[in-house]
Amino acid sequence: MEINWTKEVEARKEALLEDLFTILKVDSVRDDAKATPEMPVGPGPKEALEAFLEIGERDGFITKNVGNLAGHIEYGAGEELMGVFGHVDVVPTGTGWDTDPFEPVIKDNRVYARGSSDDKGPSMAAYYAIKIIRDLGLPVSKRVRMIIGTDEESGWQCMDHYLLHEELPDFGFSPDADF
Ligand SMILES: [Zn+2]
Repeated sequence: MEINWTKEVEARKEALLEDLFTILKVDSVRDDAKATPEMPVGPGPKEALEAFLEIGERDGFITKNVGNLAGHIEYGAGEELMGVFGHVDVVPTGTGWDTDPFEPVIKDNRVYARGSSDDKGPSMAAYYAIKIIRDLGLPVSKRVRMIIGTDEESGWQCMDHYLLHEELPDFGFSPDADF
């Protein structure tokens, strides 16, 4: 079967942007002042994680929230587990923005918002890659997990917590920023 990947992506461009904008609109800067046991790095990162997992659930994937610090969206079957590591927390916005960092705008074919390149954009792109493989019914020989962290930018609590409670992937990659 010949697959035109560009065409498959183009067909989902609007949906991808809509889902990406949903998580870009969440101010997910770590906020220790508002942290609680339920929200270990503050309300924003938790909200962004939940929004991402909801997208996975909507699309019919198995999802799991691991202590509001990390979570995953899983697809496939098999002994081996491949991890795709992304994160939805962002660094503080700082100054110098022409537009609201949490109101994404498209200008000159680029998305401007905090986290558009690190790492909400690449995470959503990786998620859509998994979704396309599923939609096309392509055979997979392993389980694939999109693992979403909420504390990559400041302390890696998310991955420590995740790996303490969940299965360690056999291998994986991280679509982080311009990686
Ligand atoms: Zn990053």
